[in-house]
Amino acid sequence: MGYRVLLLATPRPWPSCEGFSARALQGLQQAGLNSAAACLGAASPRRATWNGTTNDANSEHLVLREALDQALLADVRSAGIEVITGQLGPTHALENGGSQLQVRLASGGSVARGCRFLIDARGRAAGGGGNRLRGPESVSLVQVRQGPPEPASSYLYSLPSGWAWLAQTGAGLLFLQLTVSAEAGSLPARSELDSWFNALIQPHHDITDRIVGTSPTGPVFARGSTSVLRNELVSGALLRVGDAAMAVDPLSGNGVFQALSSALAAPAVVNSLLQHPDDRSVAEAFYRQRVEHLFLRFARTGRDFYRLEQRWPQESFWRQRRNWPDDEPSHSDISPRFLGLQTGAVLDGDRIRAAPVAVTSDQPLGVWHVAGITLAPLLEGLPDTMDARHQLLLDRIKHTISQPQKAQLVQAWLQRYGLL
Ligand SMILES: Cc1cc2nc3c(=O)[nH]c(=O)nc-3n(C[C@H](O)[C@H](O)[C@H](O)COP(=O)(O)OP(=O)(O)OC[C@H]3O[C@@H](n4cnc5c(N)ncnc54)[C@H](O)[C@@H]3O)c2cc1C
Repeated sequence: MGYRVLLLATPRPWPSCEGFSARALQGLQQAGLNSAAACLGAASPRRATWNGTTNDANSEHLVLREALDQALLADVRSAGIEVITGQLGPTHALENGGSQLQVRLASGGSVARGCRFLIDARGRAAGGGGNRLRGPESVSLVQVRQGPPEPASSYLYSLPSGWAWLAQTGAGLLFLQLTVSAEAGSLPARSELDSWFNALIQPHHDITDRIVGTSPTGPVFARGSTSVLRNELVSGALLRVGDAAMAVDPLSGNGVFQALSSALAAPAVVNSLLQHPDDRSVAEAFYRQRVEHLFLRFARTGRDFYRLEQRWPQESFWRQRRNWPDDEPSHSDISPRFLGLQTGAVLDGDRIRAAPVAVTSDQPLGVWHVAGITLAPLLEGLPDTMDARHQLLLDRIKHTISQPQKAQLVQAWLQRYGLL
């Protein structure tokens, strides 16, 4: 869109291995982050032992975040974007609505820079904004171990006090991550973390058998992993993306996909806020609705997965997570219905604007186009009787869509929602 972008980056200070879904890999490729995508190895098997049964059906791409984060920066630089390695310090509002930034450089000293628009992508470290939704307090304790090389693979185990994820990276590096409650009084003092961690895994032979012949490379460290949806996603000339907007339960293995989803929606929103200030509320609504929708969808899927584990209903870890965020179904209904036309916020090229959209039971944010055809003119003022409706829809398709392939796709959409 022709904007000059400056990226402030601070490498994360701890070693980390994460499992990416095929969707996250596609997201990286779609965004042109090719060096980053190339860091992901082939998908390796993921074995889940949950509620006493073992399932080998899934796989994930294991990735060392240190290498991935470096590759992301290389991709950003090769796109012609200036990168400053440093820490964002205090920011001050400028008269033109932008911000004056103070950056503490990694190489020492500090530098001041101004910007018209600030995108907060500081992950869970981003402060402020308030919480719209916050899940049960959770922490993930990580032990990195070294052993002989083994084929890449990962394992998920449910335990009375939480769940464990074990990733064997192929080069002998093994990450053992234990997610437990972080409610007040549930964790030991930092000095006792290692022995507490070891005592927790000790009774679980499927875990201890897997780490035989490996030893810790350093102390256990903690990463906050509570699900959080921020309240203020856009304010003035500031927009939050990624974990700074919504940080999800690591059980979903979906954090990076969700971070990419919000980041890919952001440019058109920022462009609209800067170039079309009259449409500000529409652009804000577009962004907020999409982020909230995605957050809730995966939070409910996570809840359903927690509900599958039924052996420890009295344990507060499981009791809390099987009831959060609510009781709404996670999956859209199998026989979706058309609910009506309403004005919604749509992505039109590089801007967001208001337009009539078709709302359905499984697409509550509304559908604007199908195969490039605007739905609203086809669906306006439909008669109640089935025969008359069919006739009118077929006439409208015939007169407005000249390409048979597009007409077929639109017809299939109308059939899916019981309109044809
Ligand atoms: C325990 C745990 C396990 C996870 N496992 C998975 C998994 O298996 N799969 C998956 O898809 N997701 C996983 N996630 C989620 C995933 O890590 C995040 O969703 C994803 O990294 C979010 O990307 P982001 O760019 O928004 O934030 P981050 O990746 O957190 O990046 C934020 C960046 O901002 C930098 N920063 C912070 N403050 C400043 C500042 N003041 N100035 C400059 N820079 C700053 C940080 O150093 C960091 O580099 C996991 C999360 C946790 C907590």
